[in-house]
Amino acid sequence: MEDCIFCKIVRGEIPASKIHEDEDTLAFLDIHPVAPVHFLLIPKQHIESLSETDSTHQQLLGKMMWLAPRLAAAQGCQDGFRAIINNGRIGGQEVPHLHIHIIGGKNRLPAMIRYD
Ligand code: AMP
Ligand code: ZN
Repeated sequence: MEDCIFCKIVRGEIPASKIHEDEDTLAFLDIHPVAPVHFLLIPKQHIESLSETDSTHQQLLGKMMWLAPRLAAAQGCQDGFRAIINNGRIGGQEVPHLHIHIIGGKNRLPAMIRYD
């Protein structure tokens, strides 16, 4: 995808603080971190969102889920972290290239959803 900002990062056309790269995935620090640890794990392949995946993406999605805790631990999150995928308009997705936010730090993160 020509204009996709994350595809540009994959192609090396714009800089990013990469923390992991393999043939299928890339992880880099979020430019506007919301916690001491905040990085994004993306497929190198342009997939617009989780809703745009099909059965051929199962292995890739599984790999991303498997990688998430390992990369989080390598970034210092040995005691837990939060993984978030914003999906589509209602989910507040701003960059239309599938990505998992991985967020953590020393302190417990605030509750995302309150049941009251
Ligand atoms: P989302 O709202 O889930 O689509 O999140 C997009 C995320 O991408 C935001 O947290 C942004 O701070 C982050 N972001 C946007 N551009 C860049 C960039 N060039 N490098 C690193 N992170 C970025
Ligand atoms: Zn893309």
